Amino acid sequence: MTSPQLGGLDEIVAEHDRAVRDHAALVARGLSLDLTRGKPSPRQLDLSDGLLTRLGAGDLRAADGTDCRNYGGLQGLPEIREIFSAALQVPAAQLVAGGNSSLAMMHDTVVHAMLGRLPGAERRWADEPRVAFLCPVPGYDRHFALCERFGIELIPVPMTPEGPDMDVVERLVREDAQIKGMWCVPKYSNPDGVCYGDETVRRLAAMPTAAPDFRIFWDNAYAVHHLTDTPVEIADILALCAEHGDPDRVFVFGSTSKITWAGAGVAFFGSSPANVAWLLANTGKQTIGPDKVNQLRHVRFLKDADGLAAHMRGHRDLIRPKFDAVGRILDKELGGTGFASWSNPAGGYFISLEVPDGCAREVVRRAAEAGIALTPAGATHPYGNDPRDRTIRIAPTYPELDELELAIEGLAVCVRMVATARLIEAASAG
Ligand code: PMP
Repeated sequence: MTSPQLGGLDEIVAEHDRAVRDHAALVARGLSLDLTRGKPSPRQLDLSDGLLTRLGAGDLRAADGTDCRNYGGLQGLPEIREIFSAALQVPAAQLVAGGNSSLAMMHDTVVHAMLGRLPGAERRWADEPRVAFLCPVPGYDRHFALCERFGIELIPVPMTPEGPDMDVVERLVREDAQIKGMWCVPKYSNPDGVCYGDETVRRLAAMPTAAPDFRIFWDNAYAVHHLTDTPVEIADILALCAEHGDPDRVFVFGSTSKITWAGAGVAFFGSSPANVAWLLANTGKQTIGPDKVNQLRHVRFLKDADGLAAHMRGHRDLIRPKFDAVGRILDKELGGTGFASWSNPAGGYFISLEVPDGCAREVVRRAAEAGIALTPAGATHPYGNDPRDRTIRIAPTYPELDELELAIEGLAVCVRMVATARLIEAASAG
């Protein structure tokens, strides 16, 4: 590593001394700032307070007359499925609207595949000698943790600006029949904001797989979470899988967690008719039906796909200034230093910051000393192991703007301090 902005060792040492002083001043301020999780801010949650008032006594029946207070309706209300059908690129008849968490649906889907036989499977995953999932990295730590919980092996696959490296993916799934699944966050990916290109999606749908029961877990968590006026559209993977003769290949997931209330929203599962029947046969043993009152109040509140888009513009107006602030401060403090690069996402919830190899853990540690909590370095990789120790996930949505600015300025100090220390070490070793 070199720094284009700093010339010789003297300048690097001077810069390091300055960063150490800035860090000591930061520590002395006793800050308590949290950039760890991608949570909506209280003001974002306020946008959906209409959920409390749009539904009242006397208005608790769905369009088909179903009394939402009662049991039943395993697949969820047709009208909530209609609203989300286009955004998730799944026909409403093939969507399931469930409880409040898509992660819970992903978890249960894995468990059902473990304990019951998937359409096309020779045996239950629990009876396989080994089950492995491909994990594009950097990725979402909770996907990895879910698999680890069940002893599913995680195989990292590098990301490109167009999505996972498809040469690697195609080779692995062709050769290894124990690769049963793959995690994908296809739009505004967590954490680097990557959107899968059309050719990536086509190849995912078309690639031959050694496992007859291979499934793509298509977690479209950020389908409508645009930060710009030009929403990104991705290719329709469900239709492409059907076109390429493997209609059962993909499980689509999504939720309103970052649309309405993160803790009281509606989650979705979408897939082929055979997979939907399989899921409902399993969930029918778990529950007599989802919370349809919650689904109905979402219908009354969001109204239709246009209502959903308008609501998302409200979120964008609140969070766009935060993303802009992160970019502006990183650019001012670290631009041209060679100490870091960062993503500039067009949507989603995260910014991914890349620091020089071997520096991420130390930057996170130094930030913690200064009262700035970051997601642990390594969390973006399977087993918490970022082999180059360089990726840091920034979650800008929750703090208020002034706190966020303080946190990013502090983070930049930590990056300067750690990166200059490494340069000095390298110079003395050399
Ligand atoms: N998937 C991704 C990619 C996420 O980033 C998150 C939340 N951070 C979730 C799923 C969680 O979804 P839910 O709230 O619907 O369980």
